[in-house]
Amino acid sequence: MDNGQTPGGNAPDPFFITGPALISFSGGRTSAYMLWRILQAHGGTLADDVHVTFANTGKEREETLRFVHECATRWNVVVHWLEFVQRTGQHWERFKAVGYNSADRIGTPFAKLISTKKMLPNPVMRFCTDELKIKVMRDFMRDRDYDRWTNVIGLRHDEPTRVARSLGRNVLGKERWRTACPLDAAKITNRDVRAFWAAQDFDLQLLPFEGNCDACFLKARPKLFEVERTAPGTLQWWADQEAAKGSTFRSEYGYAEVIDAVRRQPDMFAGGLFDDDPEMDAECGTWCGEAA
Ligand code: SF4
Repeated sequence: MDNGQTPGGNAPDPFFITGPALISFSGGRTSAYMLWRILQAHGGTLADDVHVTFANTGKEREETLRFVHECATRWNVVVHWLEFVQRTGQHWERFKAVGYNSADRIGTPFAKLISTKKMLPNPVMRFCTDELKIKVMRDFMRDRDYDRWTNVIGLRHDEPTRVARSLGRNVLGKERWRTACPLDAAKITNRDVRAFWAAQDFDLQLLPFEGNCDACFLKARPKLFEVERTAPGTLQWWADQEAAKGSTFRSEYGYAEVIDAVRRQPDMFAGGLFDDDPEMDAECGTWCGEAA
């Protein structure tokens, strides 16, 4: 079965991408590594119909924004910074193009989404990824008059379930794009990605659990605790959204409760940071979504 693992037909190098294509750069180490490999496969310059995008939720860490900017600058590649504007209207009205300096840093796109949906996302209804990232990238491609394209995402060979789920959608054919996972096709694992970054003279200045939205509700509670302990105030935006909606992102606890716990017992979770939250292994925006 052709599951989309060979973008560009029979090209032997999975990192050689034939357009039209969108390369989804999440701002994490894995998708950055994928971008670097793709650039290498193309002699450093992508075809005009191969676009690299970064969808900013407004709740990215400053380190992530700097990393995206640094990759683009050092590797001389255009990265389109995009932000959600609204859910309705024509596709060109639903997102806007920004840049490193003008990117929102106060959660505006995310808050707008919550306000239009009139509810908070949660681990079961994770519409933030879909609306703030996947559909924004889709609208960007439609705005460039592409009807069909290849979506190149940074899922590794050690993420077989996510790869199977993403490539399975190619068979269903419900979306405007076919997904390609060159890292999986090239059998790249997390170990390879870590080795690559260890050999570079720049890197993302965050621990793995600190990536994606700063206090994403998919992060396990001890990690949220650590985020607030090391960067006090980070959880406040999330607590404010909960207070405004009178509900919580997770059924088990609210962010105000975590903030309070940090204030009362800052050493409570010492050594407990590595509880399972496998969702956070993946870079957000790479592997889920039902946008059509
Ligand atoms: S990182 Fe978390 S909060 Fe942010 S868009 Fe992704 S799932 Fe939603």
